[in-house]
Amino acid sequence: MVKKEIVSATKLKKELKEAKVELLSRNKKLKLSVKTEAKKKVNKKKAVTKKKVDKKKAVAKKKAEAKKKVDKKKAEAKKKVEAKKKEEEAKKKEEEAKRTPEEELEEQLTEEEIIGFQIDKTDMDKLVNRVTEMIASYATKGILQNILWRKLKLSSRDGSRLALKLERLGMITREKILEKGRWTYKLIIRKAPVSTISIEDAPCLICPVETKCALNNDISPKTCQYIEDWVFVELKTNKSK
Ligand code: SF4
Repeated sequence: MVKKEIVSATKLKKELKEAKVELLSRNKKLKLSVKTEAKKKVNKKKAVTKKKVDKKKAVAKKKAEAKKKVDKKKAEAKKKVEAKKKEEEAKKKEEEAKRTPEEELEEQLTEEEIIGFQIDKTDMDKLVNRVTEMIASYATKGILQNILWRKLKLSSRDGSRLALKLERLGMITREKILEKGRWTYKLIIRKAPVSTISIEDAPCLICPVETKCALNNDISPKTCQYIEDWVFVELKTNKSK
């Protein structure tokens, strides 16, 4: 009976030891499992955080790129505006450089003021005849207005106004040209003035038989000795000039 009890105690002891080992093992496994889970959780958290950070970074990067694009577009637009402004300014300068005093006068004066232009103490009819005769002598080549004004001792302003007047009267045309870097006008005759000087001495003006004179009459310019003599004298005078 005592022996049986001893065996049972030994067995129990062994079983207890085994149970203890088992318990320790389980405990160890459990601890390991808990540690692993915790680690997993931490890692998961870290991964989530990292993902969030990466996402934020990606969004920030996208925003930065979008901003860069917008800035680039803005810079390009600004550049374009500036270039256009510069181009317009250059054009304006070019136009201003092209503008002549005559164009400014045309803006300032009325048509009546242009046509009715007079110079103090000057016989304008005579001056107009003289100027147009001078211009006519250059035929279709024309003459630079400043040269003409110098010859006539006219100021540029008076000359310009006179040229405008002659143009409005249909006597000349003005051709805008660039001369030595300055815009000016070449004046070309359009309608030569009728000079009365050439007929001042014509015999017909004082002819006593003028009323009987006609092309098919006995008294006719075709057979008139007065005319013949006058033409002869005129030719001789013109040759000697
Ligand atoms: S052409 Fe001779 S005739 Fe006739 S009006 Fe003249 S000057 Fe007199």
